[in-house]
Amino acid sequence: MPEPLFGKNLDELKAISKELGLPAFTGKQISEWIYQKEISGFEEMTNLSKKARELLSSRYSLGLQEPVDVQESVDGTKKYLFTGTSGKFIETAFIPDRERATVCVSSQVGCKMGCLFCMTGKQGFQGNLSAGEILNQYRSIPEWRKLTNIVYMGMGEPLDNLGEVLKSLEIFTSPWGFALSPRRITVSTIGITPAMLQFLENSEAHLAISLHTPFDEERRKLMPVQQVYPLQEVLSEIRSWDFGRQRRVSFEYIVFKELNDSASHVNELSRILQGIKCRINLIRFHPIPGTPLESPDEKIILDFKDRLNAKGITTTIRASRGQDIWAACGLLSTKKLMNKE
Ligand code: SF4
Repeated sequence: MPEPLFGKNLDELKAISKELGLPAFTGKQISEWIYQKEISGFEEMTNLSKKARELLSSRYSLGLQEPVDVQESVDGTKKYLFTGTSGKFIETAFIPDRERATVCVSSQVGCKMGCLFCMTGKQGFQGNLSAGEILNQYRSIPEWRKLTNIVYMGMGEPLDNLGEVLKSLEIFTSPWGFALSPRRITVSTIGITPAMLQFLENSEAHLAISLHTPFDEERRKLMPVQQVYPLQEVLSEIRSWDFGRQRRVSFEYIVFKELNDSASHVNELSRILQGIKCRINLIRFHPIPGTPLESPDEKIILDFKDRLNAKGITTTIRASRGQDIWAACGLLSTKKLMNKE
């Protein structure tokens, strides 16, 4: 199969041009064609010589891949499925919300992290996505021109695939790439401290950390990562990092029935987040097969939010979207995998 150009950064495109004996500026021209215009073949790169187009098409493909399946929720949320180079299913969610339109991209197929509440974790790890496969989830959905925000909250732990995630962020935000503001992009992590520091140094995108409980023992049960990179260590790095005026750190908190919504959770959250300018997003847990965890009542979540706000922690509730189409991370691809087997 010819190598895809989509997903290469400017240095790589320049190196390819040089290797093919093309003028130095050809790399920049190619990046503009693949990231800023809508073309379906090399023949449409009209400011390149005929020879350049022929050389490129003899060795490379453009590399865009259409989704293979889509399901639409009654609330307008769509779940797209792509097949990666390995033939495994990649899930991408499109979430329209008044003036915002967000795409939620995956960074891996499956995941190694084994969080108790997550269907993707239950699939096990099947592979990292390349920068091109991450970017393609943005560029190849029909709504891509309408998108206002990108979140790395789909399948996988983005910081466990740091190199390709950073490369995709470079292409999203560079003037020669999609030229998007990093303030429109949020990368979510369960808190892999060394990779998180590298991400903070090498990108301007917002950071979201999956917290889920402030207590060590409880977090260990929910998220095995706590044994290696304890939340306390993650928070101490966050506390000393200068986020500037516009960069945001937020915390994701899935609320489980009778597990992590007590008064002691409120007090401990308030204690450990002291001195960090942040926001907590509460997410209602939606049951998945094979876990004892249950979903709380709406009233409990509202109450928890009010108590956190009363403690001075800005807290919001993330609306549940697309429940009728299995929109929670990992559910649709698992269903698809089961049907395939
Ligand atoms: S919640 Fe995220 S990090 Fe944890 S298993 Fe699922 S995909 Fe992996």
